[in-house]
Amino acid sequence: MKPEEGLTRPVHSGSCLCGQVRYELTSDIKSTSHCHCSMCRKAHGAAFATYASVLKEAHSFTGGSQLLASYASSTEVTRTFCSVCGSPMLWHSKGEFADWVSFPLATLDTPYTPPKQRHIHLASRAPWFQIEHGWPQSDAY
Ligand SMILES: [Zn+2]
Ligand SMILES: [Zn+2]
Repeated sequence: MKPEEGLTRPVHSGSCLCGQVRYELTSDIKSTSHCHCSMCRKAHGAAFATYASVLKEAHSFTGGSQLLASYASSTEVTRTFCSVCGSPMLWHSKGEFADWVSFPLATLDTPYTPPKQRHIHLASRAPWFQIEHGWPQSDAY
């Protein structure tokens, strides 16, 4: 096999809660972060949203793309989700990292262990979210 063929094979795949929206990743996954900002908390209905990133060209929807809906949560950021089950599927910013897309790591179906994880926007975390003593240790914010 030629090396360039290897680049187009899916490395990872994922899906939404109802299983109709499916996606594939053709590259390794970068920068896993747990975002505590108020918009991610609302969008996910959770204490924080765990996102990882790939280059835009490495992410493609392989099923259910007609079911996707989008919401511009700010002038820069678009959040794409399954209109049937509500699973967040994609986060994209027109800003500095416009070539990248972020996806909720919880939608991944293939096994993956991030080499590094960080917590971001901890300053706006939910007041009811208790951070245990000494955790998270790697937080730089
Ligand atoms: Zn769905
Ligand atoms: Zn956020």
